[in-house]
Amino acid sequence: MTTTSLVDSLSPAEVDRLRLDFPVLGERVNGHPLVYLDSGATSQKPLSVLDAEREYYLHENAAVHRGAHTLAALATERFEDARTTVARFVGARDDEIVWTSNATEGINLVAYAMGNASLGRGGAAAARFALGEGDEIVVTEMEHHANLLPWQELAARTGATLRYIPLADDGTLRLDEAAAIIGSRTKVLAFTHVSNVLGTINPVAELVGLAHAVGALVLLDACQSAPHLSLDVVSLGVDFAVFSGHKMLAPTGIGVLYGRRELLNALPPFLTGGSMITTVTMQGAEYLPAPQRFEAGTQKVSQSIALGAAVDYLTAVGLGRIAAHEAELGRRLVEGLAAIDGVRVLGPGVGHERVGLASFDVAGIHSHDVGQFLDDRGIAVRVGHHCAQPLHRRFGVVSTTRASTYLYTTTDEVDEFLAGVAETVTFFG
Ligand code: PLP
Repeated sequence: MTTTSLVDSLSPAEVDRLRLDFPVLGERVNGHPLVYLDSGATSQKPLSVLDAEREYYLHENAAVHRGAHTLAALATERFEDARTTVARFVGARDDEIVWTSNATEGINLVAYAMGNASLGRGGAAAARFALGEGDEIVVTEMEHHANLLPWQELAARTGATLRYIPLADDGTLRLDEAAAIIGSRTKVLAFTHVSNVLGTINPVAELVGLAHAVGALVLLDACQSAPHLSLDVVSLGVDFAVFSGHKMLAPTGIGVLYGRRELLNALPPFLTGGSMITTVTMQGAEYLPAPQRFEAGTQKVSQSIALGAAVDYLTAVGLGRIAAHEAELGRRLVEGLAAIDGVRVLGPGVGHERVGLASFDVAGIHSHDVGQFLDDRGIAVRVGHHCAQPLHRRFGVVSTTRASTYLYTTTDEVDEFLAGVAETVTFFG
């Protein structure tokens, strides 16, 4: 069932070699070598990314798009080169890539801009984004709060109705329900490519097909896919996509909003201010085309350059090979967890297409105790609701423990983690 099995994976020797690029992985925690299984929350950063940011500040730092001096031109060139790198990475044009602080800001940007269109801002060109009573916004029951709350707020501001595609008992989306929910009233469908709790990959083509058949726009939350899978926004057919740099080897404070060019240029701005206008009078302003119309104020220059370096790193290793490596780790995680008495993995079991991420409940043991027990052994996992309370409620649990891998994770680390979970069960059992 996996599409990655035909692709070369990373050899153990390659993983060992690339781990040397991530000094933090050599740390000891509580007297044990660090086993970092929290990359789904944030990834570690290789030296080339840290160096890119440092080099920028050492030799090129200046305000972009403003100064007439050499350093400003150099900084602008590096900033725009990073945009080109990221655009190529996802199969987009340069002017379809908007820098944001993170994925959350990207989703809010689209939702707020649609809210502005609903107030009549942006004129006739923006009318297709306007929502009102009788219109519907559709999400899924597995969304991260970042892809739920902005739509709840937009619905509250415009009078539109928020609906959701429910989950089947195995954690997959109810596509039969999706076909009934997505209809002539649907204006936007926003859903996650890969679940940050289940690690499963959603059927983008089917969902995009349903939305586009009724003229609805599609926003893809690619936060958990862009770091791990080869992504092409054009072949996926989505209208907007968002992701965060910090989950894909880059620093915090940088994210990406992809939008189809004609949509971005018709969408009214969200944040307004400097660097995004052609003309300003005391009465009003004319806005630049995308991406600048969405990049008000001083930009995240060093972070975007570092994201460019992160993309170069991922591209050099190869996204197909990273995906194959992580699919193997994901299988190992799910198989290993399912074999431990009292452990329930959320979502579909072995055989379902997934990334290297699994969340689980241990009968009678709070996830915080599981996390603490593992941390005592140097193993870093995430505990809690992972910003997906409705999904947890659907499975009848308040919190889970989540292990998530990345290109630098070894099979030995997964085995050590599995042994740690088995020990936890014995200790508290
Ligand atoms: N969407 C998904 C699926 C995520 O996993 C996350 C982060 O965990 C987000 C959105 C929000 O990302 P950020 O906090 O970087 O904006």
